[in-house]
Amino acid sequence: MSTHPAYDELCALALRIHRFEHLQALAHWDHATFMPPGGQEARAAALGEVAALLHRLRTGPELGPLLDAAAGEPLDPVQRANLRELRRAWNLSTALPEGLVQATSLATSRCEHAWRAQRPANDWAGFAVNLREVVRLVREAAQRLGDHLGKEPYEALLDRYEPGLSTARLDELFGRLRGWLPGLIQAAVARQEGEALVSPQGPFPVDAQQALSEALMRRLGFDFGRGRLDRSAHPFTGGVPEDVRLTTRFDERTLLPGLMGTIHETGHARYEQGRPVAWLGLPVSEARSMALHESQSLAFEMQLGRSRPFAEVLGPMLSAAFGPQPAFEPAALYRALTQVRPGKIRVDADEVTYPAHILLRTTLERELIAGALSVDDLPARWDAGMAELLGLSTVGDFKDGPLQDIHWSVGAFGYFPCYTLGAMYAAQWFTAAREARPRLEEEIAAGELEGLFQWLAEQIWQQGSRWETDELAIRVSGRALSDQPLRDHLERRYLGER
Ligand SMILES: [Zn+2]
Repeated sequence: MSTHPAYDELCALALRIHRFEHLQALAHWDHATFMPPGGQEARAAALGEVAALLHRLRTGPELGPLLDAAAGEPLDPVQRANLRELRRAWNLSTALPEGLVQATSLATSRCEHAWRAQRPANDWAGFAVNLREVVRLVREAAQRLGDHLGKEPYEALLDRYEPGLSTARLDELFGRLRGWLPGLIQAAVARQEGEALVSPQGPFPVDAQQALSEALMRRLGFDFGRGRLDRSAHPFTGGVPEDVRLTTRFDERTLLPGLMGTIHETGHARYEQGRPVAWLGLPVSEARSMALHESQSLAFEMQLGRSRPFAEVLGPMLSAAFGPQPAFEPAALYRALTQVRPGKIRVDADEVTYPAHILLRTTLERELIAGALSVDDLPARWDAGMAELLGLSTVGDFKDGPLQDIHWSVGAFGYFPCYTLGAMYAAQWFTAAREARPRLEEEIAAGELEGLFQWLAEQIWQQGSRWETDELAIRVSGRALSDQPLRDHLERRYLGER
C-alpha cells in the first residue's frame, strides 16, 4: 500500500497526458516537414481534437482535490518538485475554457499553414487577416491567465515559457541590455571594418550539407538511435526525449547558416536527450524553461560553435566534406563565424545584433497584447524599430520584416524574450564551465568535447525541472541571471584580440 495514493494517481494521469503529447508532437513535426498540402484541413481538425482531449485531461475535476491531498502526503524532494510542477501546469490549464483552447488551436494551425505561402509572396495583407484572429484569441487567453494567476496579461503569457519571470525582472535585464548593446554593435562593426573576410565558395549541394550536418551532430554527441534530422521552412526541435526530431534548412549558395542552424538545434536536442531518464513522462523531468532551452542551443551555437578553438574542429570537417579552400582555415573560419553585420533576418543574425531583434519583437508583442498596437500598425512600428536599433530600412519588405518568424502565427507570444535570456544564461554557464574546467579552451581545440557535455549534462540536463529557475542558476553558476556575463563575452570576443 502506497503512502502517497493521491500523488500516485496524479503521476498515472501525467503519464497518460505525456503519451498523448508524444503523438501530438509527432503530428506537429510531420505537419511542418512531410505532410502534403491536401492534408491541411484534416490535420488541423485532428490536432484541434487532440488539443481538446488533452485540455480535458489537464483540467479534470478530480485534479484539484488530488493536488490538495498529495500536498499532505509524505513525499521525497523530487516528488515534491514534481508536485509543484503538476500544480503549475494545472493552474495554467484551468484558467482557459476548452472552447478557447480549441479555437486557438484551429486559428493558429490555419495562420501558420497560410504563412508558409504568404511569407515568400510578401503577402502582409493576407497574413494580417489570420493574425488578427490569433491576436484576439491570445489576448483573451492572456487576460484569463492573468486573472487566474494574479499577473498582468503579458506576464501570464511569459509564465508559460519562463516560469516565475516577472515583467519587472525582464524590464531590468532588457533595460540594461538596451543601454549597452547599441554601442557594442557600433564598436564591433567599426572594429571589423578593415578585417579581411574570406567567404566559403559554393555551391554546396544540400545532400552534402545534410551529410555534413549529421556528421557534426554525431561529433556533438547526438544519439541517432533516438532521433533524426530533417528539413523544414523554420528550423525547430520537437518529438520526445526517446525520439527527438530536429529540422534545419539548407541553401546550396551558402554553407554556414544551415550548418550553424544544425549546431543550434543539436543543443536543444541534447538537452532533450539528456533529461533524467528515471522521471521521464513526469513534469519534473521536463526541460526547465524555454530560456534554459535556448541557453543550451546557444551554448552549442554561440559559446562553443563560433569560438576560436572550435574552428579547429570545424575547419577540417568542412575541408573533408567539400575539399579544402582558404575559407576553411580555422582563423578565416572563425572570422566568418564572428562577423557582425546588421541584417533584417533574426535567424541569420550574428550574436551581437541578435538581441536587437529580440528587443524589437518583445516591445511589439507586449504592445499587441496590451492592446496598445493593432496588427494593421505592426509593419510601420517594425520599420521604425529596425531603423532605430539596426539602422536598416524594411519598408514594404514584409517577408524579411514581420512575416519572417513563425512565432506569432502559432500564438507563441511571450516566447521571443527567451532567446536573449537564453544567450545571457549560456554566457553565464560558460563562465562557470571555464571555472570548473580551466583547460576548457584547449580541450575544445583538440576536439575533446566530452568533458564539456558531461558538465552540461550533470549541471543542467539531468536536473530537469527539479529546481526553480533562479535556484538552478545559483546552483550552476553561483548567481541568478545577469546580463553581465553576456556583455563580458561579447566584449572579449568582438572588441578584444581577434
Ligand atoms: Zn533555439
